[in-house]
Amino acid sequence: MPAMAQAASSKIALPTDISSERLITVTAAPTRAKLVAMTFDDGPHPVLTPQLLDILKARRIRATFYVIGRNVARYPDIVKRMVAEGHEIGNHTWRHPFLTQLGSASVLRELDRTSEAVYKAVQRMPVTMRPPYGALSRAQRAMILKQREMPTILWSVDPEDWRRPGAQVVANRILGGARPGAIILSHDIHAPTIKAMPVALDGLIEAGYRFATVSMILGARDWSKLRWRLPREARAKS
Ligand SMILES: [Zn+2]
Repeated sequence: MPAMAQAASSKIALPTDISSERLITVTAAPTRAKLVAMTFDDGPHPVLTPQLLDILKARRIRATFYVIGRNVARYPDIVKRMVAEGHEIGNHTWRHPFLTQLGSASVLRELDRTSEAVYKAVQRMPVTMRPPYGALSRAQRAMILKQREMPTILWSVDPEDWRRPGAQVVANRILGGARPGAIILSHDIHAPTIKAMPVALDGLIEAGYRFATVSMILGARDWSKLRWRLPREARAKS
């Protein structure tokens, strides 16, 4: 194992093949079980996210939401509902910048502000992050893992729903791409994505898939049952 991986630790215990330096970035879980992680980025959205939560609840599906910090600050009650219904919250930065254009201090500020907003809403901290546009250099990924113990979570299935190709196309791409351990990317800020979800999710269920949050598909403890205390420096600010 490279030295960097030994130096870096993670808030969640990652499988050894993932925690190696080469795999600071997680795109799928190493499992043969028919398990997928649905992930929804860029919310919470005041109208669409509650609709999605209804759809997930009706099917008892637990998902992971990579939230934008400033949206969390605007709609903390939606984040509270996510957590109450068993979903996991991940960190998708405060204002969704291209992190590759920022220095380390700015990157950490984006993440910290977001984690603090999530903590304020639900008294828990995200344990994973996803960079906007998937854009993050290898050095930045290593820096975030070392400084904030958050692995970078990308995806293995991208329906490109943000291009709004239509609900059926989004559903077909998700169903076509699903594999054991898949991490599926979508966005809960586009109406056609929400419209695609009942078809996509029911199709996955029919194909025999079960659903896990990102932490759980990576074999970590149930995030919803974790309790966190803010780091000292963050507590001093509040
Ligand atoms: Zn995004």
